[in-house]
Amino acid sequence: MSRSNHVIDRIGEDESVGRLRALESENHAPYFRVVESTTAPVVHIEGHEALMLGSANYLGLAEHPAVIQGARDALDRYGTTITGSRLLNGTIDLHLALEAEIADWYRTEAAIVFTTGYQANLGAIGALVGPGDTVVVDASAHASILDGCRLSRAKIRMFRHNRLDKLEDTLKRAAGDGGGVLVAVDGLYSMKGDLAPLDGIAALCREYGAALLVDEAHSAGVLGERRTGAAELFGVNADVDVQMGALSKGLGSTGGFVAGSRDVIDALRAGARSFLFTTAAVPSSLGAALAAVRLQRSEEGRAIAERTLANARQLWEGLRDAGFDVGEPSRLPSGEEIVSPIVPVLVGDDLRAATLWRRLFDSGLFASAAMFPAVARSEALLRLCVMATHTREQIDRAVKTFADVAAELPR
Ligand code: PMP
Repeated sequence: MSRSNHVIDRIGEDESVGRLRALESENHAPYFRVVESTTAPVVHIEGHEALMLGSANYLGLAEHPAVIQGARDALDRYGTTITGSRLLNGTIDLHLALEAEIADWYRTEAAIVFTTGYQANLGAIGALVGPGDTVVVDASAHASILDGCRLSRAKIRMFRHNRLDKLEDTLKRAAGDGGGVLVAVDGLYSMKGDLAPLDGIAALCREYGAALLVDEAHSAGVLGERRTGAAELFGVNADVDVQMGALSKGLGSTGGFVAGSRDVIDALRAGARSFLFTTAAVPSSLGAALAAVRLQRSEEGRAIAERTLANARQLWEGLRDAGFDVGEPSRLPSGEEIVSPIVPVLVGDDLRAATLWRRLFDSGLFASAAMFPAVARSEALLRLCVMATHTREQIDRAVKTFADVAAELPR
């Protein structure tokens, strides 16, 4: 039997595997580095200390005593795992408490918690649209949105990132498709830290009778007066039909959620496959998430989020003043400018980004690198994420290290 196209044999020829192996063979890869312990925001990584600037722990809640206590209490009360799906034996009272807290926070009729944020998008889109419907997606939307669209078997129409004119053209075309239309966007984009123009997007959805899903994975707990995310900043919560969030980033745990009307949540409880056919989250992650949500709703939470945004501004301005291309702040309808906790340093060339990453790593700074195919060719970037727990001195040092390292690289 010929094995010429055997799925295992051909792995050696695979482009993405080859790319990863080439980077790893020179110990240059910004990927799969091994953290041995954390004293956040410093991590111990492969035998040395690094200032962590690549974590989505924006609010520093992963180390907050109240959040750790929430995890511990849940572990003590329920054990390590529930070992069952929500539908059958996997629902515990902590799920209901967390869902009620999230619904109250987002001022929606109901909420539903998933084991991961990825599964929340996958399940929500798949449960709400199907063959004959159309999903209109921002071209930079997160992979979990795109995968949800693919699994739903609805028609997918992409529009150019954050371009309202292109969204409108696409909605006009989608109206001819004949089915229901769902628009899906990130509230805060995870690569470049820019916000979706949600006021314009919501207005177009209203005009064209489309439903709107906003992914608040990176903004939940961080943005807005009530810290519910980008939709709140733009004052469009009432126009968002499906507000998805992650518990795995600012909220210091793992998991995802959707907040919405009773109808939406019942549709997900009945039909979201990534909800029905997987094990419920471990109790300690629910306990941590509930403590984190309660904290972020309090005055202490307000102060924590303010520190995160002040740190973001300091890092963004420091790098800009040092001559780096850090993009533009996002602008709200009021004219206010927002620098999000995700600060991109636009580098361009993949090799330059990998080299810069490695030198930073050697100098005690851990950043994230995004290279092709995660971003378009020649649009490689380093992505820095601030935490509330970074000190002003640490951020100053990060800027200085960046400038020193970049000065040594050939132009
Ligand atoms: N949406 C966005 C925008 C994300 O960046 C991520 C995680 N990278 C997710 C959803 C998935 O969340 P989780 O990591 O909790 O699965």
